[in-house]
Amino acid sequence: MTIHIPFDNSYATLPPRFYTRQVAQPVTQPRLIAFNQALADELGIRADDPAELAAVFGGNAVPDGALPLAQVYAGHQFGGFSPQLGDGRALLLGEVLDTSGKRRDIQLKGSGQTPYSRMGDGRAWLGPVLREYLLSEAMHALHVPTTRALAAVLTGETVYREAPLPGAVLARVAASHIRVGTFQYFAARRDIDAVQALYEYTRARHFPQADSPAALLEAVIAAQAKLVAKWLSVGFIHGVMNTDNTTLSGETIDYGPAAYLDTYHPMTVYSSIDAHGRYAYDHQAHVIVWNMAQLATTLVPLMPDTDAAIAQFTEAVHAMPALIEAERLAAFRRKLGLGTEQAEDEALIADLLALMQAGQADFTNTFRALSHGNARDQFTDRAAYDAWHQRWQDRLTAEEGADARMLAANPAYIPRNHRVEEMIKAAVAGDMAPFERLMQVLSDPFTEQPGAEDLTRPPLTHEVVAQTFCGT
Ligand code: AMP
Ligand code: MG
Repeated sequence: MTIHIPFDNSYATLPPRFYTRQVAQPVTQPRLIAFNQALADELGIRADDPAELAAVFGGNAVPDGALPLAQVYAGHQFGGFSPQLGDGRALLLGEVLDTSGKRRDIQLKGSGQTPYSRMGDGRAWLGPVLREYLLSEAMHALHVPTTRALAAVLTGETVYREAPLPGAVLARVAASHIRVGTFQYFAARRDIDAVQALYEYTRARHFPQADSPAALLEAVIAAQAKLVAKWLSVGFIHGVMNTDNTTLSGETIDYGPAAYLDTYHPMTVYSSIDAHGRYAYDHQAHVIVWNMAQLATTLVPLMPDTDAAIAQFTEAVHAMPALIEAERLAAFRRKLGLGTEQAEDEALIADLLALMQAGQADFTNTFRALSHGNARDQFTDRAAYDAWHQRWQDRLTAEEGADARMLAANPAYIPRNHRVEEMIKAAVAGDMAPFERLMQVLSDPFTEQPGAEDLTRPPLTHEVVAQTFCGT
């Protein structure tokens, strides 16, 4: 093989009860349908043969230096604890140190059954693979921390969901795949040695400056507060913020039913399995605090004094809502061109969002139009908008560089749900052109691109995507 991936594996040095070593289940006809050359370069991957790339990222060939393994974890799913989850359809191929010296995981998703598959087939179909590919790369271009997409491979096999569907594998890259649920797995078993080992590993890998479990908790809380505030600022709804889908690194992970808002409403839910709106747009800021409380619980046994640890961790968790709100306000200030902080900003932002909600304004287009100074059409109650607009203009007199700030904070393009669905339909029919076009436009979301005006259009009534599916 001529493919070269400079593996440098560390998770495999953790105790054997952290994972199961195994290789992917081979597929019949792997075909490379997407490859992220820029990311490959960043990872030091050298390869030029698409057939070889398909063999490696489809799971048929183990590249030199890889040490494939399935990671075990647990997690609260919609609030209920599942003591045993894990990579049921994924394998960590190994890690590389990227060109900036950062350790990154390379994982295959859809690579076949593992001991953690439960009733699942270990496979993925083309739809969710391309959805995650597109959404994660778009997220990166929006400057939001996220796992990345390296490659997508059609397997040549049929996956059975409600219907027979084309099977696919996603190769994704992450700062790590350590989840709150990874800590919970060992803590729930009272395996404190393992929690200690995981703490030391996580700290060294992500937060080397954290010198205690309390410091690690605070660092993760800070990273997650930033992340969720960024989600809110681009209208993103993760959709399944279970603790097994919450990373220690602070990256967005697992895009199953993820979606972006079209019209703004704080209680928007797309996921078909989120019947009670636990993970609705506006609930995300609360749920992440709950998830951090679960992480805190797992770290208590590492502390010498339990009562003191509980008091300290409780304080850290209770401080999180204010952190998130500060990050959210900072993000929305940028969206309104405000580089300074003033007491009135909070009301200015809240009142705009209330107007948008009342008038069912398109979230992305409204902020982009505000950046261009032509947002009036986005509102139904023009008088109320005019009054708000005057307040905003008055506030802007204290600012310099507002236009540039806004154009850099308010994207023109997001992966709109109806476009994502349209892209998946085309891909299933063998047409990758819509995928490639969306990838191209969304790689530069803050710049208007000639010929891409249709991608800014909100869905027509018959195009609205009411529900998204985990689609596993
Ligand atoms: P997720 O929906 O990604 O949060 O996955 C929840 C759990 O279900 C994880 O442990 C997955 O590995 C597992 N899982 C999801 N889909 C499959 C599948 N098709 N086969 C095996 N395990 C799966
Ligand atoms: Mg998951």
